[in-house]
Amino acid sequence: MLTLVCPVCGAHGDETDFHAGGQAHIRRPASHDPEHISDQEQADYLFTRINPKGLHFERWRCDRGCGKWFHAARDTVTLEFKAYYGITELPPPDIMAQARGAWADYFKARQKAAAKAGAKS
Ligand SMILES: [Zn+2]
Repeated sequence: MLTLVCPVCGAHGDETDFHAGGQAHIRRPASHDPEHISDQEQADYLFTRINPKGLHFERWRCDRGCGKWFHAARDTVTLEFKAYYGITELPPPDIMAQARGAWADYFKARQKAAAKAGAKS
């Protein structure tokens, strides 16, 4: 049984009190310019998912509390939740540092983009 805590309202419960929404941090490819999206980009958006053994990042919705979506970092081996964070946020830095493989690459790219955006403003 999975036990979760909603980071928005603080509701506690098992996985039946929440709705699993699949992989976190999936971004739709440039939907403002659909003619320039390649078939591969569209296929990756629709079908390609990270499926690691170990630390994974997921979307969950608080069904019996506030009804809000949030992100959770969960170890797929131990089933332990490591962190909960907002739907528009990145995981806490110590959790991102533990990410491996495709997740590590993703967070490095996001942090680099955020630093570049911060440097412009
Ligand atoms: Zn909630």
